[in-house]
Amino acid sequence: MKTNRRILVLGIDGASWNIIDKVIEWGSMPYLKHLLSSGKIKKGYMHSTLPPMTPPAWTSIATGVNPGKHGVYGFHRIIKDRNGFRFYLMRPYDIGYPRIHEMLAMFKLKSIIVNLPLTYPPWETLCKECIIINDWMAPELRIHPIDLEPKFKHYFTKGLEGHVLKSRSESSISMIVDRAYTFAEGVVELMNTIDWNLLFVVFSEPDWIMHFNPNLVSGKRAGKELRVYTAIDDFLRRTYNIVDDVIIVSDHGFTVCNELVNIPYFLKKYGLAEKTFQEVLTVRFSNIEIPSWIIKFLRKHEKVKRIALSLVSRLTRKAKTISIEATTHIIPYSQAKAIMPDAGIIYVAPNYEEEVLSVLEKIPGIQSILVGREVYWGYRISEAPDYVLIPKEPYCIYTKSDKPYINYDTNHHPVGLLGLGGDHIDEVWWKNSWNTWDIVPLTLTLLKLPIPADTDGYYPSNARKYSYYSKWNIAVKMRSIRRLH
Ligand SMILES: [Zn+2]
Repeated sequence: MKTNRRILVLGIDGASWNIIDKVIEWGSMPYLKHLLSSGKIKKGYMHSTLPPMTPPAWTSIATGVNPGKHGVYGFHRIIKDRNGFRFYLMRPYDIGYPRIHEMLAMFKLKSIIVNLPLTYPPWETLCKECIIINDWMAPELRIHPIDLEPKFKHYFTKGLEGHVLKSRSESSISMIVDRAYTFAEGVVELMNTIDWNLLFVVFSEPDWIMHFNPNLVSGKRAGKELRVYTAIDDFLRRTYNIVDDVIIVSDHGFTVCNELVNIPYFLKKYGLAEKTFQEVLTVRFSNIEIPSWIIKFLRKHEKVKRIALSLVSRLTRKAKTISIEATTHIIPYSQAKAIMPDAGIIYVAPNYEEEVLSVLEKIPGIQSILVGREVYWGYRISEAPDYVLIPKEPYCIYTKSDKPYINYDTNHHPVGLLGLGGDHIDEVWWKNSWNTWDIVPLTLTLLKLPIPADTDGYYPSNARKYSYYSKWNIAVKMRSIRRLH
């Protein structure tokens, strides 16, 4: 059963072929250009989760199931209590399905997981032998096992603030480019030091530089930010020949929208919310609560922001333990009949479905209103959003609550990319059009492991199957029993 194959899953957050093709044309990804033109990498399309959001899409890529089974519908976990919407930022133990590194561990194969969303704290995993470097959506950056921190941590902490700044200024772009190079260096160093079978690494920088950057997304000539793609290309060049097979994957694409409709604004305007979700939410930076007005202020004042960010990170280092449990909020139903926590997903107070639907039908820019229970399926369907909104082109759906529209900006697009290359791709199947949950059966087959019995992904009918979920579920229960004692 044991294999010595080495598979690289190279995640490029927010990438799509129309943008990558342009980047190649501009000469910024010469190695990928060579792999594509020599036929070494096949080019396919990735259909993101609905709506196309980073946490559910990466979790589907890593679990092989739709959000109805893994339970990640957005950045927050929303639970409809008796009196209101209770919510907190998603954590790894909120995920209701094993991820690929936990599956590999059941067969004693070793994974290195870098920057996969929802991996903080990295030691909260049922995968003792895994190496996990947590993602940027966390109060701090840590490595499991901890003894790797002195040698490797500095590669991954550099330029983390870049995600707050995104491509709003030249200096933020430099910071993000620097981060991509240092991060890639750290991953190469790690993969050469340690024995492994799966390296799953997500580069978030392309997503950060495409937000607020319509010039790049629309394919007009871009500037320094192209070096982010060169950093990834360089990483691919250094790794391609030392791995057996490569799966290049993104969680969604990007598009330019002429008009972004701020749904929470309309929910408030039509009397469905005294306060929107966004107004209630205070952005939490490590163990310090930062109200959203400060964030807004900082966005406007670049210099002050840099000072504030370094202050926050200094305070963070001082704080010994960081509790992310304490961040639960509640919005009583008396204050809101509907909330939209993230772009396109709506949660409705009990018995207000029809009233909310009639309001949603009045909001311009919406192509269709889907019922959550019909979009997703599985054991965690009870936590699904009530409605999922699909925008009508050229509109996009956005979450600001202070004005009805924003003009001309970038937003996530439902189609991302997939690339497949290496020594054993003839052993697996090929299709042009992929779903996020197809990646797990594909990767497991390349590693000669059985397919999860209840995966949503595609696999051939004669494939061997295994109950990863049942085995994992028992381990999760054992762990919670151990916690109580
Ligand atoms: Zn993303």
